[in-house]
Amino acid sequence: MATGGAPQLHELNDSPPYISGDGYAMALRAGADLIDMEFIDYQLLAAAPERIRGYPPHTSGFINAGAYLYNKDGERFMWRYDPERGERATRAIVNRAVGTEIYQGRGTESHGILLDARHVFDVVNNGATADIVRVFRNCGVDMAESPIEVASGPHTYLGGIRIDEWGRTTIEGFYAGGEAAGGIHGANRTGGAALADSYVFGLRAEIGAACEAGDRERPDPEGGGWREGIAWLEERANRSGGGGVDEIRREVQQVGTVTIGQIRDGDRLKKALTELDALERDNDEVSVSGDSPKKRWECMRRILETGNLIQVARMLTTAGLMREESRGGHFRFDFPDLDDENWRCNIVLRAHNGEISARREEIPGEGVGDPPPGVPSTAAIPVE
Ligand SMILES: Cc1cc2nc3c(=O)[nH]c(=O)nc-3n(C[C@H](O)[C@H](O)[C@H](O)COP(=O)(O)OP(=O)(O)OC[C@H]3O[C@@H](n4cnc5c(N)ncnc54)[C@H](O)[C@@H]3O)c2cc1C
Repeated sequence: MATGGAPQLHELNDSPPYISGDGYAMALRAGADLIDMEFIDYQLLAAAPERIRGYPPHTSGFINAGAYLYNKDGERFMWRYDPERGERATRAIVNRAVGTEIYQGRGTESHGILLDARHVFDVVNNGATADIVRVFRNCGVDMAESPIEVASGPHTYLGGIRIDEWGRTTIEGFYAGGEAAGGIHGANRTGGAALADSYVFGLRAEIGAACEAGDRERPDPEGGGWREGIAWLEERANRSGGGGVDEIRREVQQVGTVTIGQIRDGDRLKKALTELDALERDNDEVSVSGDSPKKRWECMRRILETGNLIQVARMLTTAGLMREESRGGHFRFDFPDLDDENWRCNIVLRAHNGEISARREEIPGEGVGDPPPGVPSTAAIPVE
């Protein structure tokens, strides 16, 4: 499974529209364990103008050049969150601060804050950020004259399908890698580490799966319940009623952004579970509409994706509710501190009869287990 993260759960995101957590939801339905679903790595994204909402302006380039962050009241708020480094605090601290400013009503009308690079315009217009300056200029915002509006959005899902060092999941013969898999980074990640994760663990999973498959019997072509799946799709395609899938997708994204978003609290998380149940019922009723088979298929795809996003939201909420502390990419307004004594652990999710259960587990120690059948050595993987 290499289906990436679930950025489409959030209204503001920087990813293609079809990365919608399908792998997480499928793995959950199949009975696999998922881990660390409450941890998301956030990044500052364009909040306005609307045409480029979600565009990633790589704000660290601007901040390193000396740009300032202001809230709508004109305060350089970062000094309140990190009195030593201000805007130059780590990405996680900057994003948490930006999220908090917006959550507490000090954001702009576009739910953003202001990044001001006017005083260092010559630097940012001539360095690695020059392309970004051009993108904003093409949308009518001249960074020499005015600040840009940015907000915090999900950049990488750090949790996902639980794997071992060979990409093996808790289901025999099922492998995962990249952002679909979880637990590599813990609660936060360093810049560049997501791609390294995808390359390293993608390759290891590929080798493990290929070696294991080599020793296996061919699967029964009638196995796996695919005929029942096709019958269900046919039945679903003919169901009629309900509202439009796009409205429901927007409502799910609202929950993803506001209720279970970057700044969380227990009451809102509990409310989200009820809202998600209602949204799932609505999504189940949506008609498959469209005046051509292609459009009907597109509509069906969006309905199924939205159903998967609802499942991801439930996983995020369940783990986020259980973890009564703040750590890395998980911030609880009602439990703002790190609590190593009680929460230095993994939260592992699994579905039982359609219900998601969560349990705490000790973080696994170092050490390499037995490789999958057929893999000659755990010591070295030949890369050619
Ligand atoms: C704008 C941006 C910039 C980034 N910059 C960096 C960086 O500088 N350094 C870094 O380390 N990380 C960065 N990241 C994060 C990093 O790119 C991702 O974590 C990484 O690409 C994930 O790779 P992946 O192969 O697991 O998933 P993806 O690259 O997301 O690929 C998933 C694939 O699965 C397909 N798919 C999804 N659902 C289905 C389905 N149901 N059926 C079939 N196919 C499906 C998708 O079409 C897609 O092709 C960035 C991310 C973004 C969005």
